[in-house]
Amino acid sequence: MWFDPASPGKEPRMLTGETMSARPAKKIQETRKGMRLIDRFRPEVAETTRDIQPYEPVSSLPRMTERPEMEHFKLDWNESTIPPSPHVRKAVLAYLDGPVGLNIYPQLFSTDLRLKLQTHVGYPADHILVTNGSDDALDLICKTYLNPGDRVLSPYPTYTHFLLFAKSRGAVIDKLHFNDPFAADMEELIAQVTDQTKIVYVVNPNNPTGQLFTNEEIEKLAQSAPHAVILVDEAYAEFAGVSAVDLVGGYENIIVTRSFSKAYGLAGLRVGYLVTQPYTSRQLGRLYNPKSVNQLAQVAAGAVLEDMDYYRRYIDEVGESKELLARWCEHNGLDFRNTPANFVMIRVERVKDVVEALAEAGVYVRDRSSFPQLEGCFRLNVGTVEQTSRIIRRFERVLVNLGMMESKHD
Ligand code: PLP
Repeated sequence: MWFDPASPGKEPRMLTGETMSARPAKKIQETRKGMRLIDRFRPEVAETTRDIQPYEPVSSLPRMTERPEMEHFKLDWNESTIPPSPHVRKAVLAYLDGPVGLNIYPQLFSTDLRLKLQTHVGYPADHILVTNGSDDALDLICKTYLNPGDRVLSPYPTYTHFLLFAKSRGAVIDKLHFNDPFAADMEELIAQVTDQTKIVYVVNPNNPTGQLFTNEEIEKLAQSAPHAVILVDEAYAEFAGVSAVDLVGGYENIIVTRSFSKAYGLAGLRVGYLVTQPYTSRQLGRLYNPKSVNQLAQVAAGAVLEDMDYYRRYIDEVGESKELLARWCEHNGLDFRNTPANFVMIRVERVKDVVEALAEAGVYVRDRSSFPQLEGCFRLNVGTVEQTSRIIRRFERVLVNLGMMESKHD
């Protein structure tokens, strides 16, 4: 009798003589010693994958759909809080009603979108690769550059999904904890670069802490580590108004990734891009899949670029909302951390109770307290001023119910 630990609830399976003799002798010997029991009847995953735990996204969507009668505020994934502009909707519908259907593969290399992006980023199309969300750009960079054992340096806490892409190549992650997790210290980061460092991953502004490096600091990093890819993840750069794209012309080792999921409200379509010098782009082109970005995403992203006023107004409102929340937190003695991105952090006692009670009230925020140095913190993204005012009213109700705030109506 052999117990299969991969299916602990199932009946133990009998291994017949026939099955045993069909298996390579070494494998059976290993199994007898109790090694690799889990892989006995299945193909083995790659060594670089074996120790990786799946990225476990916490999604509030099921709770939202369970209560369709309620108004929900989904503030846990830093998405835009408003739909894409009417112009985007029109462009997508026009495509669906047009002569080329969804039965045809998308335009290869997203050529039309790259041509539109030229004016947006200020470089010719050979500096740009469009990807299936910026996640795919991060994965492509890891696949192209990392050998097993290479080191990837990153301030921490950061966007953890990237670390999974790096680990899947067998890279070792060097996490740098700054003394103050909310203040960026480039000298400290540069001091941690070694000859083995292959990628320095800088989310700018950082998720979740909001740390923001200046272009002078990023340039210094690129100069001091010419052997490493300086990967600047600008998923939130539109809100910060700072971009390392300006540095790309001068440094072949800088790759900037951008997203249409945050400021531009296309998270559901999955589209992002990277900007780098043509030489680096050609290296990435070795593994790039030219048909990985779906056609509706290409059309929608192109339409976003034709309607920038709509998005600039939203970005301005996000700025106003952050100030509104900051004033409310200050007034109520709550520990508030502003960021240059579209999210903020609030530190409270009993954070788990607060996050759960907010979710019950239809406000979904992200508990970040498991990160070292972020004890008691939850993160929430902000949207329009009108939405923020209503969210604040729900916060007040929740905190009063938990006995953490005086009722304003007594
Ligand atoms: N980079 C950072 C820092 C993020 O926070 C996220 C999503 O939360 C992403 C990348 C993924 O963006 P995309 O939707 O473009 O794949």
